[in-house]
Amino acid sequence: MRKIWDSYRQRIYRNFVKGSSSKSGLVFWRNLLFAESMIYLFPFCLIALIPGVYWSYKTGLVFLAVADLVIVSVIAFIVFSSGIAIKYRKLVFMTCVYFLSTTIIYYVGLPGPGLLYLYGACVFGIFFFEKKYAFLFAALNTFIVTAIGFLIHLDWMPWPQDRLHSLNEWIAVTSNLVFLGFITAALVPPLFKGLQTTIEKQVLLTRQLEEQQMKLNESYLQLQKKNEDLEQFAYIASHDLQEPLRMVTGFLTQLEKKYEGQLDEKAQQYIYYASNGAKRMHQIIVDLLEYSRAGRSLGDATSTDVGEVLQEVLLLLSKRIQETNADIRIGAMPVLTVPPAALRQLFQNLLDNAMKYQPDGQQPRIRIDATEKMNEWEFRIADNGIGISPEYFERIFLIFQRLHQREEYSGTGVGLAICKKIVETLQGKIWIESIEGSGSDFYFTIPK
Ligand code: ADP
Repeated sequence: MRKIWDSYRQRIYRNFVKGSSSKSGLVFWRNLLFAESMIYLFPFCLIALIPGVYWSYKTGLVFLAVADLVIVSVIAFIVFSSGIAIKYRKLVFMTCVYFLSTTIIYYVGLPGPGLLYLYGACVFGIFFFEKKYAFLFAALNTFIVTAIGFLIHLDWMPWPQDRLHSLNEWIAVTSNLVFLGFITAALVPPLFKGLQTTIEKQVLLTRQLEEQQMKLNESYLQLQKKNEDLEQFAYIASHDLQEPLRMVTGFLTQLEKKYEGQLDEKAQQYIYYASNGAKRMHQIIVDLLEYSRAGRSLGDATSTDVGEVLQEVLLLLSKRIQETNADIRIGAMPVLTVPPAALRQLFQNLLDNAMKYQPDGQQPRIRIDATEKMNEWEFRIADNGIGISPEYFERIFLIFQRLHQREEYSGTGVGLAICKKIVETLQGKIWIESIEGSGSDFYFTIPK
């Protein structure tokens, strides 16, 4: 039963609203309302047909019985036929309702459902047609009841004696109908207009939102492309710079060796400065290469025991741990699906810094823990080091940004930039909380 009903509905929708240009304007909703009304009206017509035809036949009103049958057939035709424009369906339907109501009034008079149908026709017209036609339907009703009034006055109505209404009676009843028609014509269109304004606003907003989204997507793609270009440039530049630098370092070493003892102190000092500069440049190039690679080649995500990764990192950093006598404590760690190399590099940089940025001679005390949040894991690397003033919280994550002289603390200012790149590639966040002089807490998140 449900299947039959669904396919019946689908069929009517297809016939009525399929292919309509607008899917959201008021015209579309009026058409949809018409389709929806037809879906329910047609079965009711069928149900009403049997007693209607029976009663008309019984009382000798054969023409009414035939009219009933014709109208139901016409409604069936406009409901089920395809390829007819919806405005013609509406016109035919309205003609049927007006024809039926006037025929019933003509034969049955006030007790029949004719006047009710007449008002129904007016309401249908106001709902299904544009606003400008609303009063036309109210006026049409007025015209019909006035015309019938004349027929009553002229005694031309075929009503039986026992149901004969006087003109006064007719006017008293139908004036209410006329009044109701005009009230409906006045009240419903503003409602529709309000609805239309809301719909239009909504459509406009959706369109604006779509445009913004498109622009945002475009900017994102452009940014991504620029980023890739920049990374490629950094990669190529740093890669190609290595070769001439190797030559400079090589010849400087040869100069030092070949002319040992022949050069004065000043010349030797110059060579020392030159090779020192070349070494630093080499380190910067290596860091730059590492930075341009980070994020691009993290490797495949696999099930990774973070605790095990940390043990590997401790092994890699064992020399510095011994030198500084660092006390490192690690809490319970989860198993995550991430590229292990990325996590290793992340912890290595952060732990290395935690041991490096310490006041002279202080034993580093470092705590690493992980907290499970709703959608992510939050890691914290807390140290008892020199700390950072809040004004530098953002800056330290930028490439080549350092807060200290090389003589004070060694480094090139790339480590945290790499960490940020890795975390963001994994769709997480990285940040710092710190009080200058009392240590720092570095946080990063990894989505589950
Ligand atoms: P580098 O260590 O090579 O200077 P980083 O990018 O790792 O580069 O760090 C950038 C800056 O952030 C450092 O120069 C330092 O001033 C600050 N910093 C990083 N880690 C810490 C830390 N644990 N405690 C205090 N300062 C830190």
